[in-house]
Amino acid sequence: MTTVLTTENLTKEYQVDETTITAVDNVSLELKAGEFVALVGPSGSGKTTLLAMIAGLLSPTSGQITLAGEELAQMNEAQLTALRRNRIGFTFQANNLVPYLTVRENVELMLRLNGTYNKDSRRQAEELLQRLGLGERLNSLPSQLSGGQKQRVAIARSLIHDPALVLADEPTASLDTALAYQVVGTFADLIHEQNRVGIMVTHDLRMVRHVDRVIQIADGRLEKDTSDRYDIEVMAGLRQPETVIRPALNGKVKQNGYLKDTVAVSLT
Ligand code: ADP
Ligand code: MG
Repeated sequence: MTTVLTTENLTKEYQVDETTITAVDNVSLELKAGEFVALVGPSGSGKTTLLAMIAGLLSPTSGQITLAGEELAQMNEAQLTALRRNRIGFTFQANNLVPYLTVRENVELMLRLNGTYNKDSRRQAEELLQRLGLGERLNSLPSQLSGGQKQRVAIARSLIHDPALVLADEPTASLDTALAYQVVGTFADLIHEQNRVGIMVTHDLRMVRHVDRVIQIADGRLEKDTSDRYDIEVMAGLRQPETVIRPALNGKVKQNGYLKDTVAVSLT
């Protein structure tokens, strides 16, 4: 599979008065086309900072980011703007739809902004919106939609311009659980079908059921990076971690000060 994004020893420090806060600490990642990744971690762990650097919105203190073969640090402001408009899609918690444009126009707007709007654009926007279950709401205004519908319009908008990389910061924060699963599930299907890289920031571990890989950060550092289906399903709460009784090495293991013949080993 093609590598779409790499970060190498990526670090971001913020200087606040006399103290230095290391928001992202030496993070190295490689993401491939077709991968849908959850970025998880507690509040303040550096998720948004990492995402903003990957999006070219914030420059790292040190380290490198390469997107679709191009190193972000080598680009000037105009090139970064073009990169964001052409190669990256965004969905945020507050979905920022334009209130006086219809659903379809909100999606088409992305193509008008990056100068690729053409005779096929309307049909493309309609197809994508239909795919997201909004075929009946093309001419509605955002104010006439439910929270889940608005979020799906935001997802359509993040995908319409054929980006290599799609970033979503807490895309399900305003939705109830059932709806959130549905939205993330459709998002996952589209990432896979269209062979993009999707990164979804979430603090809700249940949402990781639809991803291929979970990257967990704590205090800015990579804590865990797994593509193991079993691991992911345990994290999502879809199954209990299995505890097995295994014969210990040499038959004896010291536990609580006693020698025992077997020991419980958690597989996670
Ligand atoms: P998360 O998205 O995981 O909640 P953030 O990336 O927003 O985490 O923040 C990571 C750390 O960096 C936190 O300690 C936060 O207070 C700090 N931080 C974020 N933005 C700034 C900033 N502009 N100036 C100073 N400190 C910041
Ligand atoms: Mg955040």
